[in-house]
Amino acid sequence: SVVTRFAPSPTGFLHIGGARTALFNWLYARHTGGRYLLRIEDTDRARSTEPAIEAIFDGLDWLGLMGDEPATFQFARSGRHAEVAHALLEAGHAYRCYLTSEELAARRELAQAERRPFRIDSEWRDSSPEAWPADKPYVVRVKAPRDGETTIDDLVQGSITVANAELDDFILLRSDGTPTYMLAVVVDDHDMGVTHVIRGDDHINNAFRQLLIIRGMDAVEGGWPDPAYGHVPLIHGADGAKLSKRHGALGVDAYRDEMGILPEALFNYLLRLGWGHGDDEIISREQAVEWFDIGHVGKGASRFDLAKLQNLNGHYLREADDARLAALVAPRMAGAVDQALLARAMPVLKVRAKNLNELASGAAFLFARRPLAIEDKAAALLTDESRSLLGAVAQRLGMTNDWSLEALEEALKAMAAERGLGLGKLAQPLRAALTGQTTSPGIFDVLVLLGREESLARIDAQAL
Ligand code: GLU
Repeated sequence: SVVTRFAPSPTGFLHIGGARTALFNWLYARHTGGRYLLRIEDTDRARSTEPAIEAIFDGLDWLGLMGDEPATFQFARSGRHAEVAHALLEAGHAYRCYLTSEELAARRELAQAERRPFRIDSEWRDSSPEAWPADKPYVVRVKAPRDGETTIDDLVQGSITVANAELDDFILLRSDGTPTYMLAVVVDDHDMGVTHVIRGDDHINNAFRQLLIIRGMDAVEGGWPDPAYGHVPLIHGADGAKLSKRHGALGVDAYRDEMGILPEALFNYLLRLGWGHGDDEIISREQAVEWFDIGHVGKGASRFDLAKLQNLNGHYLREADDARLAALVAPRMAGAVDQALLARAMPVLKVRAKNLNELASGAAFLFARRPLAIEDKAAALLTDESRSLLGAVAQRLGMTNDWSLEALEEALKAMAAERGLGLGKLAQPLRAALTGQTTSPGIFDVLVLLGREESLARIDAQAL
């Protein structure tokens, strides 16, 4: 059965492209009833960091994309990687190469001067053990076939063929005995039982080299099966250029913390980036699992569209449970807030909000202290005329004991009618007095949420 994996290098945050790769792997495993595994590729000791590992787990966990089993750490498996290199050496699919980096550099320069393509062409490729120097350091190189070609039927890119002559005798073990990334990936994928390698298409050239190692193992350990490959196009910015920070290519944590995006919105957005199901924009996790097929991921680069993500997020905010939203919004507000009140306000706040920050700023008036800060635009509405109107409103509402939406609406509408005023003439200064702003949820909702005492105090403060 299917086994997929997500194999990030912990050299930075979990970026949006990585999250999408994880998502496609997760979905394909779920869709096929298979398993989805994580591997932390921490072999680059200088650049791998513990905070990056935590950020990756944190981001995956938030998106609901943690592996089905505890993650594998690549560096811890170096011994096994070396073992495979030695097996290849013994089987004659790899060789000890004693060329120094100076010698190689000189050859590379010569090739450049003579305007011919450089190839390693190591004289050690076919040397026999008797010729091996005793105390000289060596690397282990793969013995790439010089003729024939290799074809990959990529699940996303289609069939791609490369002449084997184009594949170098790349290094498997460095002179200090440590395995290279190319070797480690293949060994780990094999040992983890990975059947489908789904990753960014920046790895497609590596796939041919990795196949060389796999095919080399044919004679060893009973033969290693080729995995299926699916190389997913990278994400580009709205302007078509490769996604960078300038396009909003932030870590997943920034979408959550700074932008106030919900995980289900990012999940849905990343899913639609490069994969589609007819015209469906809103796709639930369950539907995605049912419909997803790696073969339907598009070949072209997809463009990141922040406005689209915000719109999807607005949709998911409206669907989200109000108590959950209140818990997410509360830490975004200045000072401690009453979460129960925040939750009660959510239905009217989330109508237009596109992210948690907008919910927080929309809710701010609920917890504002008297004397209320009044925005300039709102202050302009508080003319002498409207302030005396507020005096009348205060009196009228002061007599109202029923503080329900219906009763308040009836009282204010009656009052407006008696004075031959449109409701807006009353509502505008009232909103300014209650919220200090010119925009807010409906005025009756505002009154109900603030409650009788607080509402009357705020109105009184502005009334003449
Ligand atoms: N560690 C690699 C990366 O982060 C991915 C390797 C792979 O998926 O084969 O780009």
